[in-house]
Amino acid sequence: MSLPDENKVVIDTSKMSDAKASSLQITESARESVWQHPSFGKSLFMGEFNKEILFPFPEQSSDDEKIGDDLVKQVRIIFSEQLDADLVDETRTIPDEVIQALAKLGLFAMKVSKEYGGLGLTQVNYNRVMMAIASHCGSTAVLISAHQSIGVPQPLKLFGTVEQKKRFLPRFREGAISAFALTEPSVGSDPAHMKTTATLNEQGTHYLINGEKLWCTNGLIADYLVVMACTAPKVIKGKERKQISAFIVEGNSPGIELVHRCDFMGIRGIQNGLMRFTDVAVPVENLLLEEGRGLKLALATLNTGRLTLPAACAGMAKQCVNMTRRWGGKRVQWGSAIGEHEKGSNRLAFIASTTLAIEAVTWLTSHLADKGDVDIRMEAAMAKMFCSEMAWQVVDETVQFFGGRGYEKALSLKARGELPFPIERMMRDCRINRIIEGTTDKVAKP
Ligand SMILES: Cc1cc2nc3c(=O)[nH]c(=O)nc-3n(C[C@H](O)[C@H](O)[C@H](O)COP(=O)(O)OP(=O)(O)OC[C@H]3O[C@@H](n4cnc5c(N)ncnc54)[C@H](O)[C@@H]3O)c2cc1C
Repeated sequence: MSLPDENKVVIDTSKMSDAKASSLQITESARESVWQHPSFGKSLFMGEFNKEILFPFPEQSSDDEKIGDDLVKQVRIIFSEQLDADLVDETRTIPDEVIQALAKLGLFAMKVSKEYGGLGLTQVNYNRVMMAIASHCGSTAVLISAHQSIGVPQPLKLFGTVEQKKRFLPRFREGAISAFALTEPSVGSDPAHMKTTATLNEQGTHYLINGEKLWCTNGLIADYLVVMACTAPKVIKGKERKQISAFIVEGNSPGIELVHRCDFMGIRGIQNGLMRFTDVAVPVENLLLEEGRGLKLALATLNTGRLTLPAACAGMAKQCVNMTRRWGGKRVQWGSAIGEHEKGSNRLAFIASTTLAIEAVTWLTSHLADKGDVDIRMEAAMAKMFCSEMAWQVVDETVQFFGGRGYEKALSLKARGELPFPIERMMRDCRINRIIEGTTDKVAKP
């Protein structure tokens, strides 16, 4: 049996509705079509187990490890001294002094190269920091991740001109916050059908953006946003083709209206909302890449951008290991510690071993991203899916392990003199990971 030619088109769109066929056409044409580097995920699909890419399991150099150790230590100090994550959840506010302290450390420029004033962290160290943050406060993790993994720094780093980089990147070392605006009320998983437009003015100096963007994380406080919008269509092979383009937009531009701050099940401290753009003038110099390549930019941004979420899942799962181990030996029912009952020890084993797997996938993919000579498109999507699905199961099993205390809010436990394990909040915070940056059902977009 011969395997299909990897370059052959295998999707037959002839029997699809026009809407479905055009979604596919636009999204598929935005994908990178060339494999410049080997890929473990791709080889699996072709029936090969390319173990040379995976082994020996990569290790961090001691110099790089030290950089990460120092930063993680400082982040932990800020969190333990200044941030009550349950209060963030209750008040829907991440205190300004915490954001300032993180900015001072350079956390809004972790992946910005030193050349532009950033910390120039490797993906491994960046994810070590994100893991530490997520184990403490889901809202703060999403604030930093939406800014750095998909917000302005990442696409700018990948696709910006030198002039654009010089103009914007140093701002993030000063603490500027960014957001990524793709989703709209009528388009979520299917961005190809977006309605927001960017029309070039007569003088050719500015694009005027009109439309609405929904669920834009950090959108309400962002200094800069990457906004995707439709520019003038082009005729390609006799057919009119929609052109999605990407722009850097200043958050205080006239014409941006913050219509509504969304309130969610979890990560309640994030500043996420519905934004309306009315004739928002964006200089042509702020176009990223070129007209029509905005969806390509969004998908490519996610190749490494999507690796933060596994780290956040690992941080949460490790916190579950920590809490269940502590509680499992302390809580006695029917004459034994609950961690020693057969079901309890099975649960501990599941939580610990699944956490190990989540962490291993996180480190493997982070190291592969740092190596730079491996194509990690598939691995990033696989890691996102595996880690978000398994972390959810780990948190669910943790709730069950704690019984009623797993269902009670930490502040309520504290008020009646018990240890304030934040499991109820973690469960609410964890659930979003199966939805953002590509739903599990269709891992394609943020
Ligand atoms: C808290 C939060 C933060 C977010 N942050 C951002 C952000 O910063 N920037 C941004 O642009 N967006 C953001 N989003 C939007 C997020 O990326 C979308 O929610 C996500 O892409 C899914 O879109 P949707 O919610 O409209 O679901 P829909 O697209 O309506 O999908 C609903 C269901 O149908 C399934 N489905 C859809 N298409 C298919 C298919 N072809 N095959 C199988 N199943 C399918 C989905 O998997 C899902 O289960 C955020 C959302 C939330 C809730």
